[in-house]
Amino acid sequence: MVLVIKQGAEEAQLENLIEWLKSQGIETHLSKGHFQTILGLVGDTRHVDIDLLSGLAIVESVMRISEPFKSANRKFHPDDTVIDICGNKIGGGNFQFIAGPCSVESPEQICSIAREVKAAGATLLRGGAFKPRTSPYAFQGMRGEGLKLLLEAKKETGMPIVTEIMDLSHIDLFEDVDCIQVGARNMQNFELLKELGHSRKPILLKRGLANTMQELLMSAEYIMAGGNDNVILCERGIRTFETYTRNTMDVSAVPLLHEKSHLPVIVDPSHAAGFARLVEPLALAAAAAGADGLMIEVHNDPAHALCDGPQALRPDEFAETVKKVNAVRKALGADD
Ligand code: PEP
Ligand code: MN
Repeated sequence: MVLVIKQGAEEAQLENLIEWLKSQGIETHLSKGHFQTILGLVGDTRHVDIDLLSGLAIVESVMRISEPFKSANRKFHPDDTVIDICGNKIGGGNFQFIAGPCSVESPEQICSIAREVKAAGATLLRGGAFKPRTSPYAFQGMRGEGLKLLLEAKKETGMPIVTEIMDLSHIDLFEDVDCIQVGARNMQNFELLKELGHSRKPILLKRGLANTMQELLMSAEYIMAGGNDNVILCERGIRTFETYTRNTMDVSAVPLLHEKSHLPVIVDPSHAAGFARLVEPLALAAAAAGADGLMIEVHNDPAHALCDGPQALRPDEFAETVKKVNAVRKALGADD
């Protein structure tokens, strides 16, 4: 349940209300936006008397929230959340390109790609060290060594790094990682999500292969329930009956997640498409739909990539895509 507080309400009256609700066993979540103050009632509100609350002098309106996610809900937090990754803001009109290879393969590979994507306009470097592969015989990533190479690439280029965690037991290895990715396959690894809730690092949470938007928001809720509000939602394509693409990019997820939640929403067109030639059109669609950023796989030698080569852009193709995405954003009135 959400109470919209009247503009100009006295602080003391608001505190009294919060205290009174507490005495009724109801926790509150206060959100002071630029234009509105909102009080979220957390817990079992089934027995709360709406008429009584609506009648209070400082209450403008009362709404029941049917969605089971509260912290991630825009009704509780009308303003967009802006997440800052080492000075690079995502959300609330701030847009970032996250680019890099599917997996870290060698010092030369990650450093040269990092330099090239940075020159093309990327601000954050991606690269998998722990890889969730369908086959146990496929390249599993360079693991701890891969994390070290990402940190070297960060040192060389100054780009903050985004990389995927696959298991709770690896968490200490991610101490110096700037943004931790939870991959599609782990979107409902609830123990992992709970642990990440205790961290204060930005978490890039990818939508599962066959998960609804509400399930994605519930997974964000798991992280936020632990006190970590730095969650970025990522649409990366869902599994449908279509076989011409690796997944089907759900463009509607961008405006809908924005409608339901205040969290930033980015799109990964690479995993959605599965083919390099489709990445640019999907990236343009995502930007036009209002995404707060794009995560794109880039490889200096896609034909020999150890993972996801067919969907990787070469650095020059990525540079072209960045230009076109920026043109779309500009045409739609973006400031940067
Ligand atoms: C990745 O980003 O490399 C990845 C494995 O993505 P997803 O979890 O979306 O499949
Ligand atoms: Mn990949």
